[in-house]
Amino acid sequence: MERKRVFVDSPRHQGMRKKLVDELRQKGITNEAVLAAVQSVPRHFFLDTAFEDIAYENRAFPIAAQQTISHPYTVAYQTQLLEVAKFQKILEIGTGSMYQSVVLSALAPSATIFTIERQKELFDAQSKLAFRTPKYLNIKTYYGDGFAGLKAYAPFDRILVTAAAPFVPPTLLDQLKVGGKLVIPVDEADQLQRMLRITKQADGSLSEESFEAFSFVPMLQGKNK
Ligand code: SAH
Repeated sequence: MERKRVFVDSPRHQGMRKKLVDELRQKGITNEAVLAAVQSVPRHFFLDTAFEDIAYENRAFPIAAQQTISHPYTVAYQTQLLEVAKFQKILEIGTGSMYQSVVLSALAPSATIFTIERQKELFDAQSKLAFRTPKYLNIKTYYGDGFAGLKAYAPFDRILVTAAAPFVPPTLLDQLKVGGKLVIPVDEADQLQRMLRITKQADGSLSEESFEAFSFVPMLQGKNK
C-alpha cells in the first residue's frame, strides 16, 4: 500500500524533536553525538502522515507489513551501545522504516551501513524514501534473511539487530571482526528481550554484557514476499 508522507521539516517539527532529545537525555542517554543524530533526523519522514503530530513522542508506531518503528529511546539506546567509530562497516538486521539506519548514517557519515529487511513491502518502500539522497548514500539496503547476515561484505565492525532474536545467530558472530561488537535483543521470559552486547576478543573468544529489557517485534526466519 502506498503511504502518504510529509517531507517538510519545519521549526515546529524541530522543536518537538528538541523536546524528545531532552526526554532521552533524562531517561539516561548520555552520548551527545547520538543525541545530536536523533536531533538531526526528521522521524516523521518515516511515518504515515496520520502520525505527524505525534511522531516525536517516545512511542513505537505501525509502519507496514504489521511491523513497527522502534521507540526513539530504543533507537538511541542501541545506537549508544554500538559505540560507532569513523569508517566502520555496520550491519543492521531489520531495516523496517529505515529510521535507525538513517540515525546511524547521521551519527557516522564516514561509515558504511548495510541493512537487511525480510519484508518485501518494507524493502520496496525504502527505495522510495526521500532519504535516498546523496547525503545518505552510505546506506545500502538488502532484501533477505538477517539470520544469514551478509557474507559478501563480512566481516563487520558492528552488527545491530533491531528485532527480537530467539537466540544469538552463530552466523552473525562469524561475520563479526575481531574487536567487533554485536548489539542484539534476545528473548527471555514474558515476551521481553534482554539487550546484549557481545564483543569478539583478539583470541576469538566472546565477551557478553547484559543491559535493559525491551520489547521488539520477532526476528523471523526466511524472506516474506
Ligand atoms: N530498525 C527498524 C525497526 C523495525 S522493527 C526501524 O528503525 O524502523 C524490526 C524489523 O525487523 C521489521 O521490519 C521486521 O520485518 C524485520 N525482521 C524481522 N526478522 C528479520 C530477519 N530475519 N531478517 C531481516 N529483517 C527481519
